[in-house]
Amino acid sequence: MMFELARQRLAPVFDLLDINEEVMIRLSVPKRTIVANIPVRMDDGTLRVFTGYRIQYDDTRGPTKGGIRFHPDVDMQEVTSLSFWMTVKCAVAGLPFGGAKGGVTVNPKELSLMEIERLSRGYIRAFADVLGEKRDIPAPDVYTNATIMGWMADEYAMIARRQEPGIITGKPLHLNGSKGREFATGQGALFALQEYLEHYKPSSEQMTIAVQGFGNAGFHFARIAQQCGYRVVAISDSQGAIYDPKGLNVLDVHRLKQEDNRLASVYCDGSVCNELDYETLSNEALLELNVDVLVLAALENQITEQNAHQIQAKTVLEIANGPVSPDADQILEAREIDVIPDVLANAGGVIVSYFEWVQNRSGMYWEEAEVEQQLKKIMVKESQSIFDHAKKHKCSLRTAAYVHGVERLAGAIDQRGNHKLFKSV
Ligand code: NAD
Repeated sequence: MMFELARQRLAPVFDLLDINEEVMIRLSVPKRTIVANIPVRMDDGTLRVFTGYRIQYDDTRGPTKGGIRFHPDVDMQEVTSLSFWMTVKCAVAGLPFGGAKGGVTVNPKELSLMEIERLSRGYIRAFADVLGEKRDIPAPDVYTNATIMGWMADEYAMIARRQEPGIITGKPLHLNGSKGREFATGQGALFALQEYLEHYKPSSEQMTIAVQGFGNAGFHFARIAQQCGYRVVAISDSQGAIYDPKGLNVLDVHRLKQEDNRLASVYCDGSVCNELDYETLSNEALLELNVDVLVLAALENQITEQNAHQIQAKTVLEIANGPVSPDADQILEAREIDVIPDVLANAGGVIVSYFEWVQNRSGMYWEEAEVEQQLKKIMVKESQSIFDHAKKHKCSLRTAAYVHGVERLAGAIDQRGNHKLFKSV
């Protein structure tokens, strides 16, 4: 069902573009789907088996690329949808990659760090045959991080009996990671938002922002946005939300969350919490705040037909993958709420992952300023192309982004030969 909804986004694109129907056939199904049951020895000596997935959706434009998610809701539908979005995203960003995604159905919060290490290494042992810096290159996603990527790269090196740092991106800096990768998704989303504002709302000042999800992507977005002078008035995580119309201090909130590992610590009774005095909200209420920009940086399907009518933000920025359902898209469009789509807004992560892969393969490492400058160049250029498509086709930014990505994918698929070519031989 979820994947069905994800690929529905292709239909309006094929209505707008004069594209060979073989492209539609190719892009409607994943190229390769692999499931593995991964045995993990737990700290108490017992054995548990976790189901892991790797889906390589399309590799016409290059080796496949996509993160690995550790979450209890991971299943085939979710990973397939995420791998489809990665395919479109890499094309939107003009990267020489196809799309893939991986995941394990697990609640990592119930595992010890050593159990997570064993699971991470087990994942690589299960899928090593189909991975490689010229085949399929994973990266972090929800509840996986640089440390886990480091373990995974190490496990791959042991299996392959050679160092191949380009096998995985989002690694720690001291293990051949790239400067700037940690905050690339948040930084890239801000570049996309700034381009959008310049293009569509040049007079916006004193903008207010609410951010759903305060992990890697949401935190760095909020931090950099605040540094740039925007007012971040609300933040949520899986435990709850906090709100201050005058603006939150993002770094203080982050420090407290690090200490206690949940935003609830900011508003619990006693200790430092009382000093901050922020109002608390439910996660649902945060989504319905009257703000200029609502940033979705948690999980899929957060705005659906159930709550789309209640959204009061003027613009929605999708840092998470698939946070607005297709039904909700239509409602928001009718209400003239622009959605800056995931395949553009969160592309900063895979763009700097690409830079990391380039650095690993060349052996030359870049300064942070270089990474940021190159990231900005791509985000600005691709955002402008999408705004041009939206104007030309009189369509939503999402459809425009898909048009942009699918044109590149169609070009690559067509160049390998199509019905017209082979019929004439
Ligand atoms: P993360 O694990 O670092 O953080 C996820 C955050 O979402 C956590 O703060 C969690 O508490 C919060 N959350 C979970 N359920 C929530 C709910 N119902 N309401 C509010 N908050 C909730 O993950 P991340 O890497 O920041 O990824 C977040 C999203 O961004 C995902 O959809 C991911 O696919 C997407 N994304 C991330 C990157 C990246 O480089 N990190 C790149 C592209 C896309």
